[in-house]
Amino acid sequence: MTAETLRAAPAAIAAAVDAQRDELRDLALDLHAHPETAFEEHRSAAKLAHMLREDGFDVDEGVAGLDTAFVARHRFGPGGPRIALLAEYDALPGLGHACGHNLISAACMGAARALRRRSDATAGELLVVGTPAEEGGGGKIIMLDQGVFDGVDAAMMFHPGGRTMTTRGSLAAARVTMRFHGRAAHAAAAPHVGINALDACIQTFNAINALRQHVRDETRIHGIITNGGEAANITPAFAEAKFSVRHRRFEYVQELLERVKACATGAATSVGATVTFEDGLAYAERRVNGALAERFGAHLEHQGERVLQPLSVGGVGSSDFGNLSQTLPAIHPYVAIVAEGTSAHTPEFAVAAASPDGLRAVGIAATALALTANDLFTDPTLLARVTAEFAQEATV
Ligand SMILES: [Zn+2]
Ligand SMILES: [Zn+2]
Repeated sequence: MTAETLRAAPAAIAAAVDAQRDELRDLALDLHAHPETAFEEHRSAAKLAHMLREDGFDVDEGVAGLDTAFVARHRFGPGGPRIALLAEYDALPGLGHACGHNLISAACMGAARALRRRSDATAGELLVVGTPAEEGGGGKIIMLDQGVFDGVDAAMMFHPGGRTMTTRGSLAAARVTMRFHGRAAHAAAAPHVGINALDACIQTFNAINALRQHVRDETRIHGIITNGGEAANITPAFAEAKFSVRHRRFEYVQELLERVKACATGAATSVGATVTFEDGLAYAERRVNGALAERFGAHLEHQGERVLQPLSVGGVGSSDFGNLSQTLPAIHPYVAIVAEGTSAHTPEFAVAAASPDGLRAVGIAATALALTANDLFTDPTLLARVTAEFAQEATV
């Protein structure tokens, strides 16, 4: 931190976040009470877009062909950088806001509105980007492909977690839906004419479990059966499974995906069935911009937060933010809302996303996001370092 970044404007920005405390709490709790899953976040997206419009932003809804994506803009002045703050707001099927995206949205709103009101920037444009369907739908990947992030110099968001840290990466991931086709038969009277698609599916799981012994460390392969037949007395003519394949390197994920598909093809062949594959969007591994993460960390520490290093092994998921971070300088830091070791995507985490600790993280993250963005708008040396690092550095 330079003395330059501790001027009057930052204090005013922090105060402007603090002044929104009750409103941000109400927003976070309201989103939490009305969870919407990927691409169905109509109420959540409309609420956020409305808040930004009321605050003076120019808001486009339904961008990139996605009903629940939006972009809000505020220009401080001609020229200058274009900086994006990201909001996620999708929940998980059956679990509600068990990834805490309601807190991400609230922090983003707090930061964006404080910046617009109190920044001393005289050039540049602030974007608030509402990115739907992080949980499997790849909203950011679609928005990237549609040019939503063209011309953006840096992007940032915060995510709640079990450990406050600014530099954690994420795994590259691929998803595949497998559809097994067999032939129905009376399971008792004429089983010899049946081809059991469910058996092909189960054998696929067994083959993949054998494959696990011969993959690189930190590989993750996990699946569920989404259709296992209609009745016990009918030989299943159809079965369906969904798998995710993950590793630190995208190239290896692609290699693994072919081996996983070979397991399914072999399993289907072994029972006389066939299998087809539908590939999902591929999530790239995350790059972390060190200069930007360091600045965000300084703004956390300035608020009394202790910033920790990420674990050297494990504790890592995947996000469509990875694809974004491969395209432009970006950070995806974490602020703890649960005890370390408590996993996201659990009922416990959903409770934490509406707890005092969760709401506290909103204010801390919003302040650090706003101050980091303000630095990018007003400190050309920081932006230059961020940009240079992105141009030079290999994947973390
Ligand atoms: Zn999640
Ligand atoms: Zn999440």
